[in-house]
Amino acid sequence: MNNIYLEDVNIEGFKSFSEKTNMGFQSGIGVIIGNNGVGKSNILDAIVWALGENDLGRIRCYEKQELFFAGSKDYPPASKIRVELNLKEGEKKDAPGIQLTRERTKNGEDQYWIDKTSYTRQAYCQKLDAYNLRHCLETIIRQEQINDLIQLNPWQRFDYIRQILDLESEEEAVECLKEIIGPLFQRYMSYLIPLGEVRLDAISKNERKGLEIEVNLPGNRLRRAHQLSGGEKSITSLALKLAVFHQLESPFFLLDEVEPSLDYTNHKSMQAFLKDVADSKQLIMITHLRSTIALANTVHGVRTRWDGSSFMKFYFVMDERLLRLYKCC
Ligand code: ATP
Ligand code: MG
Repeated sequence: MNNIYLEDVNIEGFKSFSEKTNMGFQSGIGVIIGNNGVGKSNILDAIVWALGENDLGRIRCYEKQELFFAGSKDYPPASKIRVELNLKEGEKKDAPGIQLTRERTKNGEDQYWIDKTSYTRQAYCQKLDAYNLRHCLETIIRQEQINDLIQLNPWQRFDYIRQILDLESEEEAVECLKEIIGPLFQRYMSYLIPLGEVRLDAISKNERKGLEIEVNLPGNRLRRAHQLSGGEKSITSLALKLAVFHQLESPFFLLDEVEPSLDYTNHKSMQAFLKDVADSKQLIMITHLRSTIALANTVHGVRTRWDGSSFMKFYFVMDERLLRLYKCC
């Protein structure tokens, strides 16, 4: 499938979502907004769980039971979790689609369906591989993980990129960094630090390859990654991660509050950067930033009820009036 995008998500019984909750997206940018603790990140967890994620740490749990809605004053604990993803090939009404469903009951095994046909986990994952959807488990940036790539040392950074892109040899990785990732990283950074220059250098030490990142900031201030300020680090890390993600054929990126601690003058640059990324990838973003919300094709407002369970207060195709009506920002 080409131009595939996530059109619709249904979540039931997953973490803070007690009742069946639906949200529809378009192929551009969908932003999920709401106060702290309302369940926004739980939505991204549900999406990756439906795509087969089994690493509890990556869906912010210690135990399997934590995935089930725990129960509240108004709702009993969930006995079943069901997450359904509808994907579509292009925006046309009659465009082909695919429906993926993962379900888990408290006593039973997981069940997987594609278009209502039941599959074993292995067959389900293989099918998802064929659609490049399993790559979506990698093309996610979780809250507070924005800097992790910069904080790695050059050797760990090189290994991370080689592993995520499944590049067999070091030579292949060096070539890919030089010819493909480097130029895209430079393009992304030119939005974010317009007068700066960046360089990715494959270095060798003790016969091990590493990746050094150098940023020449305006005023001829040459800095290596670890010497950058907090905000500069986040910008650089975001641009590099997305340049790496771009090499995976994943149809969408999930971004959880990734706009770094930008000062106001940088918001416009971030907008231009995100627009460029969204030209070729669907972005599902959690954000609190007005400037990012303004870019959205669809806006999704999550709230909590009095008992603490989450619900979708609204979602709509971008409309300034509705933004004001719902006091989105
Ligand atoms: P922030 O903006 O602070 O990142 P958020 O909207 O992303 O907030 P989440 O991390 O998605 O918030 O949701 C956290 C909420 O979900 C917490 O209130 C937590 O108690 C609740 N929660 C998590 N797991 C369960 C569960 N199994 N049952 C019920 N509620 C749960
Ligand atoms: Mg969150």
